Amino acid sequence: MSSIPDLASLHALGAAQQPSYPDAAAVEAAVTTLRTAPPLVFAGECDDLTEKLAAVTRGEAFLLQGGDCAETFAGVTADNVRNKLRVLLQMAVVLTYAAKVPVVKIGRLAGQYAKPRSSDEETRDGVTLPAYRGDAVNGYDFTPESRIPDPQRLVDVYNASAATLNLVRAFTTGGYADLRQVSTWNTDFVRSSPIGQRYEALAGEIQSALDFMAAIGADPDEFHRVDFHSSHEALVLEYEHALTRIDSRTNQPYDVSGHFVWIGERTRQLDGAHVELLSHIRNPIGVKLGPTTSADDAIALASKLNPENTPGRLTFVTRFGAKKIRDGLPELVEKVTAAGLQVAWVCDPMHGNTFTASSGYKTRAFEDVADEVQGFFDVHRQLGTWPGGLHVELTGDDVTECVGGGEELAEMDLGSRYESVCDPRLNRVQSLELAFHVAEMLRS
Ligand code: PEP
Ligand code: MN
Repeated sequence: MSSIPDLASLHALGAAQQPSYPDAAAVEAAVTTLRTAPPLVFAGECDDLTEKLAAVTRGEAFLLQGGDCAETFAGVTADNVRNKLRVLLQMAVVLTYAAKVPVVKIGRLAGQYAKPRSSDEETRDGVTLPAYRGDAVNGYDFTPESRIPDPQRLVDVYNASAATLNLVRAFTTGGYADLRQVSTWNTDFVRSSPIGQRYEALAGEIQSALDFMAAIGADPDEFHRVDFHSSHEALVLEYEHALTRIDSRTNQPYDVSGHFVWIGERTRQLDGAHVELLSHIRNPIGVKLGPTTSADDAIALASKLNPENTPGRLTFVTRFGAKKIRDGLPELVEKVTAAGLQVAWVCDPMHGNTFTASSGYKTRAFEDVADEVQGFFDVHRQLGTWPGGLHVELTGDDVTECVGGGEELAEMDLGSRYESVCDPRLNRVQSLELAFHVAEMLRS
């Protein structure tokens, strides 16, 4: 593996969606701080995740990846992190128990702070300001001061991610994720919904299976803890580059800002800086592929990002939209498969299904989300390839950001609890409902 290019050479390749920092010295100071900061994740953990994703690639496991579109610094609270983790654990239990497949769990968390935007500017009531690019870059407040990119925020991202990951590690290994808690993860407001009751029934079955195991003296470690991994879009070069380190054990470079990092739909240029940087790290990585992706594009990306064709190294996250997936996906999957490329195929049913409601809120319909996942399964089933996973934007709270679902959230309800600073997320009931749908798809 050739050496990692320096930051200036990366920028020289052309990097889409980067902040325009007004003060180069301040950027240098932030990068210097980050370069000496301890790793957030260890290389060995990244290798373990690559192994698990190799099982996904082989069709032996299913990936569940989820969390906010954009984390915020204000969202780094025990309640918020626990609620997200809880809904992911509930979904994973539904998928594991109802579909009988091992589930690899990755949070869009502990680093998901930088956002690509379709427009550089935002206009409200005749006032135009630079777009909000995530807490990693600038402030959400609609004032000229707040929207100036501040590189010190990258150090704040590091600290916020460290705090989040610390809590996640405590929750997942310290008893909270113990399978015997499976019922307590179902809080009152979820229990009162039909889908919450369905979960309750499933939790009861698991409980009696566990009681049986305990009675015969079987109590494996797996009942008491879960493996959980962090992920985010590798977007701001300064941050990802400063946290790319040579692992002393293997002498290989890893981006120690998260276990899994991905390249977004807007930054996947083959000769661009993001693809170049991620081609040098050893973490498992993903690339988002939208409906304009040609099979040749995907094959070229795979050749550059995974030249040794290592299973588990590369995940393609398709996000075509419910209306396009059945027509668009087959050719892509067919040609990538025919080229002999080892990739995990994962469905992001969110980003191709966004629309603006009459009330002005950016939203998604639960039915479109479920339909895209169904289309994804149909295509892979037809081709004999493995529908390897689900990548979703969700929250553990009872927000009103996506319409539809069993609770029939309407467009006019969106204002009551719309809290996302970026894209609309499935709320807890919708997330659980989707997990039951996907479990059915996996079983059939
Ligand atoms: C995202 O995952 O929030 C995102 C911006 O996705 P994409 O790159 O697929 O548009
Ligand atoms: Mn998003």
